[in-house]
Amino acid sequence: MKIIDFLFPKYCINCSQKWEYLCPQCKKKLIPHPEICPYCHTYSKFYQTCFGCKNKSNSHLKWLIIGFSYDQTLKNLIFRLKYFHKKHISEFLAQRLFLVIQTNQILNYQINVLKQKIFISYVPSHRYRKYFVKWYNPSKEIAKLLADKLNLECIDIVQKTKHTRQQVWLSKIQREKNLKSIFKVKQSAIKQIQWNEIIIVVDDVTTTWATINEISQTIQAMYPQTSIRWAVLWRHNS
Ligand SMILES: [Zn+2]
Ligand SMILES: [Zn+2]
Repeated sequence: MKIIDFLFPKYCINCSQKWEYLCPQCKKKLIPHPEICPYCHTYSKFYQTCFGCKNKSNSHLKWLIIGFSYDQTLKNLIFRLKYFHKKHISEFLAQRLFLVIQTNQILNYQINVLKQKIFISYVPSHRYRKYFVKWYNPSKEIAKLLADKLNLECIDIVQKTKHTRQQVWLSKIQREKNLKSIFKVKQSAIKQIQWNEIIIVVDDVTTTWATINEISQTIQAMYPQTSIRWAVLWRHNS
């Protein structure tokens, strides 16, 4: 295989037929993730935090949408998205999150009947800077596309205040320690958020549960009335 074909394939990454990245048949094979509670992982309609977990003091999330179940095709797709600037892969992945959100009746009720204001946001990108894809943040790309589809505003909500060690190599306790107060709400977002907005934070895949918690807590500490939701492409097991 020529290196150029590996970097910019003109064939389906799954079945190798001539197609851009992923052919329609292989796209259909990607499995939607079952609807579960983000805390206890039992079945929960619309990926909402279940009744049992809702009242626990450290549950900051109202729901966490998961686009797909993990499989090799999805992994390959996301690898290309991250390292080879594939903006049209972002489009396909944003479309999946859009479909899940669009069919969420509770959210539709909040938008259309309660007229609650909703913002889309994303996880900041420091961790990508060490790679050659210096300014590219897949989470931001997907968030922007998703916001366009939903006709909502995409805001930059949190920033990292210091550089963290690579999360993947750390234990769960080390990760939590590593993340302690490293995020803060951005000044520009403070002007936009008023009171009881819904904030949907988008992430591609690499965010650990510890990061999700930390970012949610940071926003909630500043705005106790906001309701924090997440939309991720697949679930990280830690
Ligand atoms: Zn295929
Ligand atoms: Zn639960």
